[in-house]
Amino acid sequence: MRRMRKIKIVATLGPASSDYDMIRKLFEAGADVFRLNMSHGSHDEIGERHRIIRQIEEDLGRPIAILADLQGPKLRVGVFANGEEELAAGQDFRLDLDTAEGDATRVQLPHKEIFEALEPGASLLVNDGKIRLKVKDCGADFADCEVLVGGTISNRKGVNVPDVELPLAALSDKDRKDLEFVCSLGVDWLALSFVQRPRDVEEARELCQGRAAILSKIEKPLAVRNFEAILQASDGIMVARGDLGVELPVQNVPPIQKRLVRKCRAAAKPVIVATQMLESMIESPMPTRAEVSDVATAIYEGADAVMLSAESAAGQYPLEAVATMNNVAMEVEADPTYRDVINASRGGKKETVADAIVSAAREIAETTNIKAICCYSQSGVTALLVGRERPQVPIIAMTSMMGTARRLCLSWGMHCVRTGEVTRFKEAVLNAARAARTEGMAEATDQIVVTAGVPFGVSGSTNILRVAPCEERLIYATDPG
Ligand code: PGA
Ligand code: MN
Repeated sequence: MRRMRKIKIVATLGPASSDYDMIRKLFEAGADVFRLNMSHGSHDEIGERHRIIRQIEEDLGRPIAILADLQGPKLRVGVFANGEEELAAGQDFRLDLDTAEGDATRVQLPHKEIFEALEPGASLLVNDGKIRLKVKDCGADFADCEVLVGGTISNRKGVNVPDVELPLAALSDKDRKDLEFVCSLGVDWLALSFVQRPRDVEEARELCQGRAAILSKIEKPLAVRNFEAILQASDGIMVARGDLGVELPVQNVPPIQKRLVRKCRAAAKPVIVATQMLESMIESPMPTRAEVSDVATAIYEGADAVMLSAESAAGQYPLEAVATMNNVAMEVEADPTYRDVINASRGGKKETVADAIVSAAREIAETTNIKAICCYSQSGVTALLVGRERPQVPIIAMTSMMGTARRLCLSWGMHCVRTGEVTRFKEAVLNAARAARTEGMAEATDQIVVTAGVPFGVSGSTNILRVAPCEERLIYATDPG
């Protein structure tokens, strides 16, 4: 199965997308990566979704990436006896440590540290900033607030405290348990919420021990300030616009998104643009024009992936939402303006043989009629360098490592094919030509570019580029030796 677009689609799974049929349909509609949100769902439910994804991967013979998203030190209220309550502007509302179910006058906020850090006058934002509370009085286990802006407050809604620097650890006890759980299941990406410093990433990496690649969610003002160092410490980035737009004025989000996307591409690390992309499709089969434009903007900017949250996890139209992203992507990527923008923003430091080889591969593709760039990459690093070039022809990432094939599913343009262990370059060319033909990207009469590093099996050693025919007889006839 081949995607007819370069940008990738991440779909969050949840109650609306938890059985085999639905998850398979989401994949067939275009989802390349499935996100397991550790903020919702029990380990049993998460484990079951994980099992189903791996089953679909086996049934369809295509690698699929699984991204587990740790809740991080996100503050959330407890639960209400009625599931939700309506708060009116001007009324009083108390947050406390009492585990009893909430009502119209109070609810639990199960984070001891926050009461210690709060001061009268501080604002608390609930439910993506929709509800605004102002602290009037507070103590070690309570905060009495005035409701400045009212609205519906319901079970486990998020709370942001932008004015106060909270002394919270990067990973909560729950995060540590969840991390161990998902790493033991086997996930490809581990997303960290509310990262503030590179040290937070290093801490997770230590616990992860190479079992997953690490993706930092940028959703705090401090993370924006420390972005360069966080990017360097991470394998990928998410522009987490939901919390980012609560912690900072919303109008700051678009320029931050543009800057982060550009820096990630220069660093050859995947970046996801996330949250509210097709928000209205939670309840409507049709997106708004503004949402379509937002998805298109992320694609024009050169993001690696766009993401669905509640749209696919809890909405009424998960399949329509994926199909919408897919359709927008095909349209944008066929626009000559998209090509111009992508070509004009090609950058990043080039200092290695691999950089030069992938750049040459792209130029050959632009100059001649070759049908694909087939790139041997064990660790995935060379494939990412090819991706950074944003070539117009398909990229076939050839790897014997299942983990690499899965991880690369998040990155722009990657079509991953698993190979057996390859020991000779001619064998690599034969495999690549066969893959290009069977994946529908080339005919026997076509030519492809193959890049690889010899000796095989040494990571980061890309040193060969060959323009090769796709027909086996011709490969033998033109083999240089
Ligand atoms: P969340 O992260 O959905 O886990 O909150 C994304 C965001 O904040 O945008
Ligand atoms: Mn968030």
